[in-house]
Amino acid sequence: MRFPRAQNDRYLRVIDVLLFREKDPFAPINYSYQIEEILCKRKSKYNEIMVLKSPHFGKMLILDNVVQLTELDEYFYHEMLVHVPLHIHPSSRHIVIIGGGDGGALREVLKHEEVERVVLVEIDREVIEVSKSFLPTLSSGFGDPRVEVRMMDGADFIKTTGEEFDVIFVDSTDPVGYAKSLFTNQFFTDAFSVLKPDGIFVAQTESLHFHRDFVCNVQHKLAQKFKLVDLYTISIATYAGNWWTFSIASKEYNPRKKPRKCKIPTKYYAEDVHINAFLPQSLKEKLLG
Ligand code: SAM
Repeated sequence: MRFPRAQNDRYLRVIDVLLFREKDPFAPINYSYQIEEILCKRKSKYNEIMVLKSPHFGKMLILDNVVQLTELDEYFYHEMLVHVPLHIHPSSRHIVIIGGGDGGALREVLKHEEVERVVLVEIDREVIEVSKSFLPTLSSGFGDPRVEVRMMDGADFIKTTGEEFDVIFVDSTDPVGYAKSLFTNQFFTDAFSVLKPDGIFVAQTESLHFHRDFVCNVQHKLAQKFKLVDLYTISIATYAGNWWTFSIASKEYNPRKKPRKCKIPTKYYAEDVHINAFLPQSLKEKLLG
């Protein structure tokens, strides 16, 4: 039997099923997704951006052939990135989000009434535009008067801003290409300097299964600056390696301490989820040394 030829590198029509085949340069595995429709496909200066519709995952945002989020499971990632530090800090008023052009992290930050100002620093304007057009459940926060959007490299912003922040979030693509600048010693040093004396830094740091050396490296770099450095994890179906990590570094508050009572609407985050997301110390030492 002859199968139809691949249409191009990224989609493969097999019999009557349209597949998107992920190509992740930072992972030793590639997932394939059945898709119904290509809703958007465009090239910006930084990324090839696609929004695909999947019968199982809903809309999916793809940058340079790597899945960034799906409507089905994005809230696990965004809630955990945001609500863990914001429930440890007693009153986080000034926030910066580096990356996060889809708006998912922003949506979660804005649920906190004490937040007065959020600067979102995204290198690629078109990611924000695409999200506003195709992913309204994620991008709903861009019109909020507390939000300022800066279009530039996050590392340059942190180096040159004169402002101080309570919490810095790094919601970036994989640490390749232009996102590499967000994982250097220099960036962590600059982030430390722009945080207030009780500030908190948190970054997505890839999978414990596939990127343990990378996770270790970030933890060690952060520990050179911050008093308290820790790691919490979550399971995400659509990120390669699944066992996803967040590296958290704090000047004052212990991320493992009992969090403030959660008073905002969440689908996944809760006080006990927060506490259990941190690896047991013995396992952390075994895995990360
Ligand atoms: N939640 C996603 C994940 O972990 O795969 C991240 C999604 S969000 C779309 C990532 C954003 O980070 C992208 O829009 C990308 O343009 C932005 N980004 C990457 N490197 C950056 C940098 N150095 N400065 C600012 N934004 C950056």
